[in-house]
Amino acid sequence: MSTQTETKTMETLRTLPGDDVRQIMWRFADRYDLQMIVQSTRSVARGPVARLVAEGARNAHDWTPQKASLLKAFDESGITAAFMDPAQGGFIEGPKNLVLALVAFELSWVDAGAATSSLASNLGLAPIHERGTPEQRDYYMGKALPPKPGEAREPWRAAFALTEPLPYVGVETNLLNGKVRVAEWKEGQEPILQVDKRGRFITGMGFANFVAAAVDTADDRIKRSCMIIVEEGDPGVYDRGTPTKKLVHQLSSTTDPVLSVKVPASRIIGGYTIKDGCIVPRYSHSEIIEAVFRRTRVTVGLMTAAKLLSAIEPVIRYQRSRFRGSETATPGTPRYDLGLQGKEDVLHRVVDIWATGEAASSLGFEAARLFDELDPLEKQKDAIFAEQKIEGGRAQFRALQKLEKDAIEFLHLMAKPAAERDAARYEALASNTLVQFMWRDALANVLCPAVKLWNTGYGANVMREAVSLMGGYGITEDCPGFLGQKWMDAQLEATYEGPEAVQRRQLSVTMTGAVFQEQFRLWIAEMRRVGSDRPGTGACALATAMQMWLWTMEHLEKATDADGAKLYHSNRQAVTFALADALCWLLTARQFIMDVLELEAKGPTNPTLAEGLPGLLNFLSDLCHVQSARAGGEVGRICAELVFGYNRHPAWDAQTTAACYGTEDLDALETLIPGIASSARACSDVTEAGQTHPTKAGPCALYKGLEQFVALRVKLDGCQTGARLAKDRAAEALTKVMIPEALDYPV
Ligand SMILES: Cc1cc2nc3c(=O)[nH]c(=O)nc-3n(C[C@H](O)[C@H](O)[C@H](O)COP(=O)(O)OP(=O)(O)OC[C@H]3O[C@@H](n4cnc5c(N)ncnc54)[C@H](O)[C@@H]3O)c2cc1C
Repeated sequence: MSTQTETKTMETLRTLPGDDVRQIMWRFADRYDLQMIVQSTRSVARGPVARLVAEGARNAHDWTPQKASLLKAFDESGITAAFMDPAQGGFIEGPKNLVLALVAFELSWVDAGAATSSLASNLGLAPIHERGTPEQRDYYMGKALPPKPGEAREPWRAAFALTEPLPYVGVETNLLNGKVRVAEWKEGQEPILQVDKRGRFITGMGFANFVAAAVDTADDRIKRSCMIIVEEGDPGVYDRGTPTKKLVHQLSSTTDPVLSVKVPASRIIGGYTIKDGCIVPRYSHSEIIEAVFRRTRVTVGLMTAAKLLSAIEPVIRYQRSRFRGSETATPGTPRYDLGLQGKEDVLHRVVDIWATGEAASSLGFEAARLFDELDPLEKQKDAIFAEQKIEGGRAQFRALQKLEKDAIEFLHLMAKPAAERDAARYEALASNTLVQFMWRDALANVLCPAVKLWNTGYGANVMREAVSLMGGYGITEDCPGFLGQKWMDAQLEATYEGPEAVQRRQLSVTMTGAVFQEQFRLWIAEMRRVGSDRPGTGACALATAMQMWLWTMEHLEKATDADGAKLYHSNRQAVTFALADALCWLLTARQFIMDVLELEAKGPTNPTLAEGLPGLLNFLSDLCHVQSARAGGEVGRICAELVFGYNRHPAWDAQTTAACYGTEDLDALETLIPGIASSARACSDVTEAGQTHPTKAGPCALYKGLEQFVALRVKLDGCQTGARLAKDRAAEALTKVMIPEALDYPV
């Protein structure tokens, strides 16, 4: 069957994927509680939030009553309480990473500033939630809980203050100028501390009732830095500061506060001990920040993912209706029926945006789910270590390292079919808390920065494509779907909670870990299997690209540049950061495939999906193929630059020139460069190697030791087979898919 006929007869996308599809792909089909919060968040997003944006509320820097009304809407819809445990007055049991990710996704579908407004309070609470003492947790979570019906109480809002005015804290989180000193310490009483902290760009500060502030010690009697809680009513200065004149996320409040207050030492987050007459905070500010950001950054990554997927419907509608109403576009004409969709390029660009949004969402939700698994294990791990008196990050790290082999063994057992593995050993390792913690932790340490980096950084670039497809309309306030604002907003998501450099730096360390690398090897094998069962997903190309990444990583860890300097080194960010970027392409494309396989497996059990499912699966498989091909292309480009780019080019002799020209036919080359043939034939390297084809022999010096890489590169190019056909099919599906008459926001 010819490909064209195939395209015509294949089932294709009928409608845009709805909740039933997303619940399966993002694995919350059995979580009714999450489905409910998605619905109530959506009504806030597409109602009050969308109305504020449409009314131009984003045009003011100040925190206005109009914007403040959103906080009430968050409280009333359950969004605020979604962060709390039932024991604290919340309504969702267990870890909250996935639920918060879904909330952020829904709000950001319309406006990520609104999402940030809601999440900033959680960010302020997060240090207390993750590392606070039980008393601190109960007290502040209780205060932050929205009032129950009939309760006359305003909930407290929190802010998180790490960043300081220049030249202090930004990317470098240890450059703290904020200080804590002992103000008063009476015998037998709790010390009173003086906290001085200036913040820069602190979200929620326009209304926060308390702040979790990072400060360094400026006193011999305080052993190290810490995070400390400052309340609005504390004696001293609690100046919210001037609003930041930001161009983005204007539905959230951001200011540069000045805090200079006295607080009891019990406000040190996580508590303290007294040792040799000194206050020793249980956690340094860095330890707390790490525990907080590794979770919240996933949510930020999902904000940009939501924007990308939210752009599809308005762009398709714009394209289809672009010429309707003109004399030449009468019903039945291509101009009327297809509009701009008659042009291949615009369709292909929508396919790219859609595939990016899917891949970003898939990885983001996977990371959120992983943290939901990790959270309880982390608590159990801490309890085990506390019992064994293994305290402090370094001691715990050393203890966990001893289990590395077990964790790797478990990954291998898990990858095998149940019938083929040693069941007893599998069970033993599966019930070992530390082993279970360890492999998930190793994975989370890669997935979290990957989500933040790729979704927001590359996502922001792709958002620009969406804006550009709307023409001039894209950069107006009236653009349906608020695409122009979303484009700008995406840049903030790439910046706050650590810009891309921070994520790349983290990845460059965590992606070299033995557990992660072994998992990656197993994923390559898994993608090969998928590639043979479901070639339409592009899994084969992805597996080859993954092999190439791993080969390059292993090569660069040993290799030196032309001057003998080590290549994989923390100071060589051009190497480590580029490899981190390449990895993100692979992780996102892989997870997208995994989610489509999940839909294929579970979709048929949902009767509401049954009819449109084959077409949807065909379409999503084509998107996977597009994404895998693109990932392969990016990885090939990055790896080739790294593998070859640090070698010096051999002298430009005739042999090299002939090789670079890529021809066997030296006589033909002679017509371009007179004299080349005779000197190339005279080249001793060629004759010694017995080769007449310079590219086969090398250019000898260029390819020496890199033959495997060259072979992989050729293979990877070949793996692009079919990718453009998949893109053509996906593009055609866009011309047929049914979309609602009008966007459902603002309503
Ligand atoms: C609207 C908004 C809201 C915010 N909300 C909060 C909040 O609630 N709480 C809070 O504490 N902070 C907040 N921030 C601050 C934000 O997290 C910081 O702006 C961000 O972490 C970057 O710090 P910086 O601006 O000082 O950039 P810098 O540290 O000056 O970095 C600038 C750039 O230099 C490069 N760079 C810097 N260091 C390195 C390095 N080591 N290696 C390679 N490249 C490097 C990177 O390209 C980086 O993007 C907010 C910021 C904004 C704009």
